[in-house]
Amino acid sequence: SFTIKASAQPLKNAEELINSVETFIFDCDGVIWKGDKLIDGVPETLDMLRSKGKRLVFVTNNSTKSRKQYGKKFETLGLNVNEEEIFASSFAAAAYLKSINFPKDKKVYVIGEDGILKELELAGFQYLGGPDDGGKKIVLKPGFLMEHDKDVGAVVVGFDRYFNYYKIQYGTLCIRENPGCLFIATNRDAVTHLTDAQEWAGGGSMVGAIGGSTQREPLVVGKPSTFMMDYLADKFGILKSQICMVGDRLDTDILFGQNGGCKTLLVLSGVTTLPMLQNPNNSIQPDFYTNKISDFLSLKPA
Ligand code: PLP
Ligand code: CA
Repeated sequence: SFTIKASAQPLKNAEELINSVETFIFDCDGVIWKGDKLIDGVPETLDMLRSKGKRLVFVTNNSTKSRKQYGKKFETLGLNVNEEEIFASSFAAAAYLKSINFPKDKKVYVIGEDGILKELELAGFQYLGGPDDGGKKIVLKPGFLMEHDKDVGAVVVGFDRYFNYYKIQYGTLCIRENPGCLFIATNRDAVTHLTDAQEWAGGGSMVGAIGGSTQREPLVVGKPSTFMMDYLADKFGILKSQICMVGDRLDTDILFGQNGGCKTLLVLSGVTTLPMLQNPNNSIQPDFYTNKISDFLSLKPA
């Protein structure tokens, strides 16, 4: 037997939703900002929720920045958000390694950008790799063999605009030649919206390359995996039934909320449109949907 999830309802009574939870988790891109541009009405909405005593948490799958770097971004946009309230998939990778007591004498090979390196450094882990690794075409003379550091105990893969064949081979060697080596993905978003002109290949493409060569499944720490949800619920001591997850994507944000047993609200200010939500092929239905979070300021029952 199977159950059919009720279709998402348009949010008609924001006050009732707000009163029904104590924490709001906001996805960032498409909810708070679009690229570097703040979405309309966000500061006022966050202020209102804080004045009602709600806990606000911000979760992003974009691993290119660290928690601290996101703190600066919020500040630049005029938002009063504490670093401790920000959970990026870069931070999640380091937090995961901490949670399993990854040995400090082992190393992490990073395929990804600066945010991951910064978080590993802050957590006290040794790492190599990062954006500048490799770069030149590998000349394959007869007998050529790539050496790799045998102390690598984990390969972390995130979105990397400097991705190259050297990194694929290096990460592959680490994983294939050491069956105990962990394969961790910050996220596997198929596409991202780096510009509004088109969709761009997302972190899932780099993760897919390493999955392809190693034939291993990664452990994902970003949305929709439950790692960050469990981590922050534990950290703040909150019940998941007291959380509303707000996001613009069905396969990451809404699934993340549903996997965690939270209430879910889809906003149409990002990548998902109403026709996409209502497409019969879409099986992911949030509890509610609305245009943007500032609807919280005006939506009352008629
Ligand atoms: N990954 C990358 C590289 C991105 O640029 C973005 C959005 O800009 C995302 C992931 C998704 O971010 P979020 O989870 O905040 O929507
Ligand atoms: Ca988003």
